Amino acid sequence: MVAWATHFRKSRRVIIGVSLVSVAYFGFYRTGCVCSIGSIQNVALALADGRNYTIPLVVLLLFLLPLLFALFFGRVYCGGVCPMGALQELVNIHNFRISRAVSWALGLIPWIYLAFAILYAATRSQFIICKFDPFIGIFRLGGDIGMIVFGALLLILSVFVGRPFCRFLCPYGVLLGLMSSLAKRRVEVTSEKCINCTLCHHSCPVDAIREPTSSNDKQTEKRNLGVKRIFLYILILPLLTISGALLLQSQSERLSLAHRDVWLYEQLQSQNNVSGSFNLSPEVEAFHEMGRDPEELQTSVLSVRKSYRIWSAIAGGLIGFVLGCKLIRLSTKRTRKTYETEASSCVACGRCFNYCPQNLKKPITKDETKPL
Ligand code: SF4
Ligand code: SF4
Repeated sequence: MVAWATHFRKSRRVIIGVSLVSVAYFGFYRTGCVCSIGSIQNVALALADGRNYTIPLVVLLLFLLPLLFALFFGRVYCGGVCPMGALQELVNIHNFRISRAVSWALGLIPWIYLAFAILYAATRSQFIICKFDPFIGIFRLGGDIGMIVFGALLLILSVFVGRPFCRFLCPYGVLLGLMSSLAKRRVEVTSEKCINCTLCHHSCPVDAIREPTSSNDKQTEKRNLGVKRIFLYILILPLLTISGALLLQSQSERLSLAHRDVWLYEQLQSQNNVSGSFNLSPEVEAFHEMGRDPEELQTSVLSVRKSYRIWSAIAGGLIGFVLGCKLIRLSTKRTRKTYETEASSCVACGRCFNYCPQNLKKPITKDETKPL
């Protein structure tokens, strides 16, 4: 429905309708769980430990379907189907601009979050996307007080800044953005010819509308510099990937403390080293009471640490690779004759549709073409 509203009907009203239903049903009624964002972890776990974990079909579909739609129609899932995106969209009334340089830097956070979510899920440690979901407390009207406060602050921020969670935190959003940039059909402000009136430009809450490029000498010089930089970044891309992998792998032992068994093992070790200690932690007490075999725990710890070495290298490599790709992309300048949407950033909210005079199908005067 959002795909139809964004590509054919150009109707924000339909998108708002879908958003309201999504917040009410997926958000408050289904309490935001299970969702596509969290499904990343199930997929990572199924890939890492397919022999012991079978991903439920519905979770697999939740992961794949929005990506598939993004591949054909752009991020229509973000447009109104995702309750988290819809909630931020519905409360947004003003858009304070964030500079592109700051947005670029903050745009790394979702990738780092994604890398760590994969690491902790694949090693059977924690599902951090679920644990640190900022809106779940709002949808459930209760829960961890720290997360409720964080969610409330994000929501207040969403009133003044377009979709902060989607842009600077959501790990699934970056996957949708990636698919969307490969999409055959990107979301367009208008199906008619763009007349460069600039009216849509500032309407976008996520700064996804790119202005036409000029072709003067200064720009040509900049472009040439950009080409040189691209070659340099392509050369250092493997270096960044390997450095990221090695750096995170060097921390794998410390990171593995997030696994229950490793943490328990370390607790046992430290309490064994303190002779005459009678203040056993509840977990250590439970371990002794259950009569668990310390050797079995040690074997488990060795296996967990081994898998941490592998997955922390993968996660670190991913972060380094993404940083390299983002640098390359920063130096790539596309030529545009008219205003165009940036497929990976556009969340298909439909806000710009109402600003475009071409969608209203009414002739505009020359004065109306001046920026607001
Ligand atoms: S980017 Fe926003 S709308 Fe899209 S999946 Fe993430 S939270 Fe949902
Ligand atoms: S549909 Fe929304 S996110 Fe996409 S370009 Fe238009 S205003 Fe921006």
